[in-house]
Amino acid sequence: MAVFATRAGDAGADYAGRMTEVHEVQRQHGLLPRTTRRRPKVVIVGGGFGGLSAAKALRRADVEVMLLDKNGYNTFQPLLYQVATGGLNPGDVTYTLRAFAGRYRNVRFQRRKVTGIDLEKKHVLVEEGEPFAYDYLVLCPGVAANYFGVPGAEENAMVMYSRSGAIEVRDHVMASVEAAAQGRPGAPEPVVVIVGAGATGVEMAGALAELRNVAIPLSYPELTLDRVRVVLVEMSQHVLGPFAEPLRAYTAEALRKRGVELRLNTAVHEVGPDYVVIGDGEKIPSAVTVWATGVSAAPVVGGWGLPTGKGGRILVGADLQVQGHPGVFAVGDAAVAPDAPLPQLAPPAMQGGQHAAKQIPRLIAGEPTEPFRYHDRGTMATIGRSDAVVQLPFGLKLKGVIAWLAWVFLHVMELIGYRNRFATIANLSVHYLSWPRALNVIVGDVPTQDAPRGSNPS
Ligand SMILES: Cc1cc2nc3c(=O)[nH]c(=O)nc-3n(C[C@H](O)[C@H](O)[C@H](O)COP(=O)(O)OP(=O)(O)OC[C@H]3O[C@@H](n4cnc5c(N)ncnc54)[C@H](O)[C@@H]3O)c2cc1C
Repeated sequence: MAVFATRAGDAGADYAGRMTEVHEVQRQHGLLPRTTRRRPKVVIVGGGFGGLSAAKALRRADVEVMLLDKNGYNTFQPLLYQVATGGLNPGDVTYTLRAFAGRYRNVRFQRRKVTGIDLEKKHVLVEEGEPFAYDYLVLCPGVAANYFGVPGAEENAMVMYSRSGAIEVRDHVMASVEAAAQGRPGAPEPVVVIVGAGATGVEMAGALAELRNVAIPLSYPELTLDRVRVVLVEMSQHVLGPFAEPLRAYTAEALRKRGVELRLNTAVHEVGPDYVVIGDGEKIPSAVTVWATGVSAAPVVGGWGLPTGKGGRILVGADLQVQGHPGVFAVGDAAVAPDAPLPQLAPPAMQGGQHAAKQIPRLIAGEPTEPFRYHDRGTMATIGRSDAVVQLPFGLKLKGVIAWLAWVFLHVMELIGYRNRFATIANLSVHYLSWPRALNVIVGDVPTQDAPRGSNPS
């Protein structure tokens, strides 16, 4: 046996050696691909800020990338409030993911809703169709609203995480204004209550206040301004919690000057179809309630068999690999490193996506991974036309027109696709430069009075 084995082994080694030489000659003449091995498969779940940054950073890696998203498009969430208040069209802030994938030779996209992960078999399970096999996985499914158990909030409040959510808010706001102008019997007064005075709540309140102060008097002379109310309710004593005190104070004052009713130190106890109960039981009438506070990981993430922490976010280590699951990364809003939690903003998601993408070739090459370091380049929030606040690293602060110009420039540059950038510049220019006469809102369908509230298909 031993002799045969040695002889067979010698013959095999000889043959293998000769074939290696033959393959090398063929390779040098371009007759063989550089490698005949299967390229590792990377599946990315979620085509938001994190997912697209990861896919782009893998474009030159020797891997096949499959990007999955439940929607066929990417949504630029920071400008959704402009869609909700009629400053931009939904198409300005969305970009088709197939066109994105088409830019890169090794990236493919499929519109699939991910329902689970088989971590043993290394399969991503989807709502319809065959599972997707992976060697490496990057999870960036974002977040969903957290209603903190407030009665009626989920059923009656609207959220703005998606294009459809923003359109729903816009249509209901405009329908309530129209109904009040017509004097329709039983129509609720056009009052919008926004819950949460973080950046989203502040931006939404500022934009609605401009609608109220400038566009509505032009288009609805039947309505007196005191009937159209914008109420911003915040549980803490500040607006824009993560910002420095002078910027918070500036923002609060700017909102008040625009006529926003600020209710700080005020909790929301109940949300009804046409009211909100706040503070010590005060019932505010509300034609439209926008829930702009509290996020947690999407409920589906809880069933993926991964360790989760605060808000159901996936627990990751310093290199962004999911704890106990080498080769599986989680980034963006859906992930949290317990020792170094990051704000749920676009830059950490983008930088996290890039970092995860850079670690995959290292793992393939058998090299150790590197820890993720977040580079804070500042935070900004707009209050309205020519007014914003910007907080830069090292304590630098901007406010007013300069901050607003920085905000416009950055948001337009971050949009994907020339067409979106052009359309956004054109729409915002018409919206702001020809102020106030051209401040007519871009409206869509008016929902029927029976349309379900708070329904958000995506
Ligand atoms: C209204 C609003 C305004 C904001 N303004 C700012 C701002 O001014 N500046 C800033 O820095 N940040 C802002 N943010 C926060 C910022 O948008 C998020 O931090 C960022 O989008 C997080 O990126 P992500 O990749 O983790 O998730 P997302 O960008 O949310 O992407 C998640 C993706 O996963 C997909 N997905 C979810 N579940 C599944 C599933 N089961 N199967 C398949 N696909 C799935 C979703 O469709 C989505 O495309 C804002 C957010 C909102 C809602």
